[in-house]
Amino acid sequence: MTDQEIKLRIAGVTPESVVDGPGLRAVVFFQGCPHHCPGCHNPETWDPAGGKLLSVQEVWSLLRYNPLLSGITLSGGEPLAQPEGALAIARKVRAVQGNLMIYTGYTWEELLEMASPSISELISLTDLLVDGPFLLAEKDEHLAFRGSRNQRIINVQASLGKARPVLWASKGGTGDALGTAGS
Ligand code: SF4
Repeated sequence: MTDQEIKLRIAGVTPESVVDGPGLRAVVFFQGCPHHCPGCHNPETWDPAGGKLLSVQEVWSLLRYNPLLSGITLSGGEPLAQPEGALAIARKVRAVQGNLMIYTGYTWEELLEMASPSISELISLTDLLVDGPFLLAEKDEHLAFRGSRNQRIINVQASLGKARPVLWASKGGTGDALGTAGS
């Protein structure tokens, strides 16, 4: 299918953000989330029939990707509830040599057990993954780029094929230490 044919249901996009991952990033907020975490900051993204249905090409145009950006973040909602759309965006990020960060309510271990070719390819194209649900009892407002202590920022490329995920070590919260998948 082409980028015109693949559809994404999104809650919105932010062309420039410094709070959704290292560096300056464009963000796609996916619509629909099955996790329903108590205390979620974006409960309006839970309804899988809400938001707007757009083609991948339309979403990419809204992001206004440019060389000043470090990369793209897929957030939500639950991006992995729409794996084909998320994968199509990921391929476009790789095509412009940007880095890809994904927020998911699934744990790394749960993702590895999903026998989905789309999710496997999506992970292979991802640089950073913030995993697990938001847990109110683990909430910590001092954490960088995540809301609760159970959530991990995983260096995906360093973790592939390993028994345990390798956590990302931020160097001052900038994008300097973050390459791109395959680089
Ligand atoms: S996974 Fe994220 S968007 Fe979904 S309910 Fe939990 S905190 Fe909210």
